[in-house]
This record gives sequence, C-alpha cells and structure tokens, in this order.
Amino acid sequence: MSVRPLVAGNWKMNGTRSALKELGLMAEGYDAALRASVDLMICPPAPLVFLAAGAAIGTRIGIGAQDCHAEASGAFTGEVSAEMIADAGAGAVIVGHSERRQYFKETDAVVEAKARAAIRAGLAAIVCVGETREEREAGKTLGVVGRQVARSVPEGATPATVIVAYEPVWAIGTGLTPTTADIAEVHALIRKKLVGRHGKQAAGIRILYGGSVKPANAKELMAVPNVDGALVGGASLKAADFLAIAAAYR
Ligand code: PEP
Repeated sequence: MSVRPLVAGNWKMNGTRSALKELGLMAEGYDAALRASVDLMICPPAPLVFLAAGAAIGTRIGIGAQDCHAEASGAFTGEVSAEMIADAGAGAVIVGHSERRQYFKETDAVVEAKARAAIRAGLAAIVCVGETREEREAGKTLGVVGRQVARSVPEGATPATVIVAYEPVWAIGTGLTPTTADIAEVHALIRKKLVGRHGKQAAGIRILYGGSVKPANAKELMAVPNVDGALVGGASLKAADFLAIAAAYR
C-alpha cells in the first residue's frame, strides 16, 4: 500500500507569536512539487495553535497540538482538551511524547486515553513510542516498543485517526540516530503489530521516525522501509531546515 508521507514539526516549548513568520516562510516554500509528494504539519505550543491555524488557512500545512487532556472539559486547571484543540482549528495532537512520558510520568494507559480523546474530538492522534538508551543497550527495544504500541494505540485505529511516531528517547535532541537497519527493524515490528490488531487497513497508518532528523540525514532516513515521514523537533523551528527535510520527498 502506498502511504502519503508526513513531515511534522514539534516546536515543543519554543516560540512566541513572532515565530509564526517561520510558518509563513514554510508556506512560501511548500511549492506544488512538494505538495504533490508530502504532507506538512507544525505543532506549536498551545497558545499559538489558534493563531497558527488561522495563519495556515489556504497553505495546506496542517496544524497540531503537542498534548491534550483525556476529558472533554471540567475542573482540570491548566489543562487543554482535545475538543478545545479542534475548536482552535488544529487537525491533530501529539500524545505520549517521551518528554511527557519521562517528565510528567505518563503511562501507556494515560497515552491511550489521550489518543482516544483526540479521536473523539475529530483529531488525528500522533502516538509516540520509543525506547530509552538503557532499554536499547539491554536488547529490550522490540519488547518495549511493541508493548507501547499495543497499549498506547486505541482500538479501531485507522489511517485517518492514528499516526505512530517511533522516537528512540536517546536520539531526541542528541544528534544521534539508530542505524537504518535498526529503524527498519522497529518500523517493521510496529507495522506488524498495527496490522495484527487493527486489520489490513492499518497498512496505511503512517509510521513516522523522529530523533535528530536533520537536512543532512533526512533522505537516508526517509528511504527506510515503513518510514512514512518524520517527526522533527529542533530542525522544525526554522523554515529553511524544515523544508530541506521535507525535500527528501521531492
Ligand atoms: C522530538 O522531540 O520529537 C524530536 C524528534 O526532537 P529532535 O528532532 O530535536 O531530535
């Protein structure tokens, strides 16, 4: 099955309104040739989602958020629901990023509930999985990632509702990446798990690779079997770098 790739940018806790000029530059560089071959998405911090969604109208660049609460509304001071994110004009939300799992102690059950909330609100859930350095060194990568996919991706996942991002924790922000053979092995496992549980149509669920994707390595990483795009952190903050990564699909 041919899967339309997606290059998504996670701005993390970076950027104020002035950063939206980068979104404008991305839109300028997202020319017909790129639009024909790859989807683009930017996930800015929550206060920018509404403005970014407005700025992205007519550009075909999607806007996503970086996290959501599992409940639709209620007494959860400081939290943002998937319904609010959808109402702000976004089309997706990242859930279970390793920084959420690590610093905010989010378990697979919490991530799954957030992914279900995203789907309930009409958003695509970008479900992140990935092993730590210790887990890789102990030979536990496939077990850990397999378990995270089984427990974090909700029942009934489809290509429209779920995107999986494989992000080895030790590769995020470090400049390190797994070998292409290692990435291929993990992505094949994720694909097998998805199809095994969600049926044939799960062959169309996008599986992104994330972790130190840069213009210099994008082409090699994006050519790995079952890699249907990238989730990009640091290199998504500047339009020139982000577009250079997307150009791997030109
Ligand atoms: C991320 O945090 O999702 C990420 C992939 O970061 P970076 O590209 O900076 O490694």
